Amino acid sequence: MKCLITGGVGFIGSHLAEALLRRGDRVAVIDDLSTGNIENIAPLKRDGKFEYVIDTIFNRGLLAELVDGADVVFHLAAAVGVKLIVESPVRTIETNIKGTELVLEMAARKKRTVLLASTSEVYGKSSKALFREDDDLVLGPTFKGRWSYAASKAVDEFLALAYYREKGLPVIITRLFNTVGPRQTGHYGMVVPRFVEQALAGQPMTVYGSGEQVRSFTWVGDVVSALIRLVETPAAVGEIFNVGHREKITIFELAQLVRELAHSSSLVEFVPYDVAYGEGFEDMMYRLPDISKIEHVIGYEPTLCLKEILGLVIEFHRRKAREKLEYETQRQSPRPPSRQAAGERVL
Ligand code: UDP
Repeated sequence: MKCLITGGVGFIGSHLAEALLRRGDRVAVIDDLSTGNIENIAPLKRDGKFEYVIDTIFNRGLLAELVDGADVVFHLAAAVGVKLIVESPVRTIETNIKGTELVLEMAARKKRTVLLASTSEVYGKSSKALFREDDDLVLGPTFKGRWSYAASKAVDEFLALAYYREKGLPVIITRLFNTVGPRQTGHYGMVVPRFVEQALAGQPMTVYGSGEQVRSFTWVGDVVSALIRLVETPAAVGEIFNVGHREKITIFELAQLVRELAHSSSLVEFVPYDVAYGEGFEDMMYRLPDISKIEHVIGYEPTLCLKEILGLVIEFHRRKAREKLEYETQRQSPRPPSRQAAGERVL
C-alpha cells in the first residue's frame, strides 16, 4: 500500500508511519512541525520506502502531488491539545477546517481513500455513560473557546461524509479517545506525559479542577493498528468509529497511579481551571467510549491495560531524561587534550 500521512511527524503519525513501514508499505509524510518533533522520524529516514516533506498542507501543488502518489491518505494534521486550542483559537479552527477541506478536495480528484482522525471531543459534555458513534453531540456555547476544537472537528466529519455521499469518495472517520504512548509531549497540555514528567522530576503533579473528571487512555500501538485495519476493510467506508479503551480512571486516581508506578514522592497539587486554562474554561467531566462497533467490524481489542501503558510511558520518559543528562554532562565537561594537536600520530 502507498500511504500519505498528513501530520506524520507528530506523536500518532510517527507511530503510524513506523507500523506501516514494518509491514512493507510505502510511506510519505507531510508535516509543518508546528507541534511535531523531527526527532520522531529520525530512525525512519534510513528506510528506502519512507519519504518526508516539511511543509504545510496548505501548499496546494505539493499536497496534490503527494495525494496523487498515494492509495490511502491518513489525515492526522490538525491543531491538537486543549492548551493550544484555548491559546490559539484562530489557528485551531482554520487549520482543522481548511486543512481537511483541501485534503478531501485533492483526494476526490483521484478517488483516494481518506481516513480522517477526529476526536472524542466531538461528543462534548454529554453525560452518557458510554459514547456511541450515533449519539447526539452536546457542545458548549461558542464564546467558550474550548468547544471550537470539537466544532471544527465535527465540521470535518460532516464534510468527509458529504464527500462520501455526494462524490463517492471512500472516507473513514475515527474518533480517538485520549491516545497515549512514547513521544507524546506534555507541551500542549496532555495529562499523561505531564504527570509522568512531573513525577520523575519530583515536581508537584498538577490536577486541574476537582480531579473527579473521568477518562480512559488508549495505547498508541492499538490506535495505529486499528487505523491500518480500518483502511483495509471495505465495510468501514462511510462509517465513524470510536477508537478507545474501556478501562476508566479519574484524573486524581491517575496522578496517584503515576506517582506510585514512577516511585515518586511528588505532591498532588489541585489547580483551578481558570488558573490552568483561563477564565470560563469548561472541562468534559466524563468521557468513555462504546467500542462495540469497531470490535465488530475489525475485531479491535486493546492489548494493554492502563498500568502497562503507564509503565511504558514512564520508561520512555526516564530514558529521555537520562539521555538529556548525559548530553548536558558531556557538553559541560572539559574536552580531553587532543593528542593529535600535540603532533602525535594516533594509531
Ligand atoms: N489535566 C490535569 N492536569 C494537567 C493536564 C490535564 O488535571 O496537567 C486534566 C484535564 O483538565 C482533563 C484531563 O486531565 O480533565 C485530560 O486532559 P488532556 O488535555 O490530556 O485531554 P482531554 O481529555 O482534555 O482532551
